[in-house]
Amino acid sequence: MTHIDTPLARSVAPPECTDRTDRTDRTHGSASAEVPASRPPLPSDDVILKVEDLKVHFPVTRGVLLKRQVGSVKAVDGVSFTLRRGETLGLVGESGCGKSTTGLAIMKMLPASAGRIAFDGEDLAGFSGAREKRFRRSVQMVYQDPFASLNPRMKVRDIIAEPLQVHGLAGDRAALQARVAELLDMVGLLPYMADRYPHEFSGGQRQRIGIARALALKPSLIVCDEPVSALDVSIQAQVVNVFMALQRSLGLSYLFIAHDLAVVRHISDRIAVMYLGRIVEIASRHQLYAEPRHPYTRALLSAVPVADVRAERRRQRIVLQGEVPSPMHPPSGCRFHTRCPSAMPQCRSADPVLRDHGDGQMVACHLYG
Ligand code: SF4
Repeated sequence: MTHIDTPLARSVAPPECTDRTDRTDRTHGSASAEVPASRPPLPSDDVILKVEDLKVHFPVTRGVLLKRQVGSVKAVDGVSFTLRRGETLGLVGESGCGKSTTGLAIMKMLPASAGRIAFDGEDLAGFSGAREKRFRRSVQMVYQDPFASLNPRMKVRDIIAEPLQVHGLAGDRAALQARVAELLDMVGLLPYMADRYPHEFSGGQRQRIGIARALALKPSLIVCDEPVSALDVSIQAQVVNVFMALQRSLGLSYLFIAHDLAVVRHISDRIAVMYLGRIVEIASRHQLYAEPRHPYTRALLSAVPVADVRAERRRQRIVLQGEVPSPMHPPSGCRFHTRCPSAMPQCRSADPVLRDHGDGQMVACHLYG
């Protein structure tokens, strides 16, 4: 029996700082301001990223010399979604469901086995030369582990300046210093910190440095791969607020990958839920939390504590039976049928299609026809 609530049962803490260095640094910079939760609706047709039937399979081989392919791990197996300009799409699911692999394929850091990814209306597969370089500038990534993603031997100034130098956008020394100071300010850090090394910073500050580096090339889309998972709960809300403030001021689009539904609820406009390489539900955050439809989404949400004491007392957890099946041999029919509390005979053979049921909420489940 697997109890799924452990990784999800954290809530976003109020933006107070328990970390000494974070408390000091948060007093400066544009990103430290609180951000209202609601935003005006985004235009529905301004799509910056379109993913269609994306598959990322990894071959499994046997034999030392004659490596014979004996199967494949279907890490991502038919994922489709769109992301609008200025929007945050949360991508959630348990570890190993394929959400980070999806992010890496969008970054062109992993080859797609099939499907199509279009950025600003153009197919990534056709990018080369100057177009490829422009894409590399326009799409950046913020990584999960701020301790591992920054070179410990480089000063913060050099870490942030590196992408500008690689792309030939550094300018002269004075211009580069001014840009580094500006980027530090945008994430709520002080200019003098440019001369320090990563180990002199707290976890939250390191993640701010990672964000500043990602912003250096003025991207329009940032793939955020579990960017707050490695941080203390009290620091998570501060970093999420930095992301939200930057989105408002720069018009950024985020694909926000996380396993923590409380964090995703705070930042996302829409949320896509993944299970075993597939998206099983996509909805606005209001729809998803008010009326989760897919049994897997319901199970995930049932594990999230509710702030209201009476509602929390009424909350009934759905404990899923069994383990997540291997992505090498996903179950026939609905991939969730081996653990689904609502499974019906047809679920073993018929693969449900992700379908819009008229209100923009898409769900892949036979319960909805
Ligand atoms: Fe459960 Fe069947 Fe729906 Fe799959 S299709 S989620 S097994 S009810």
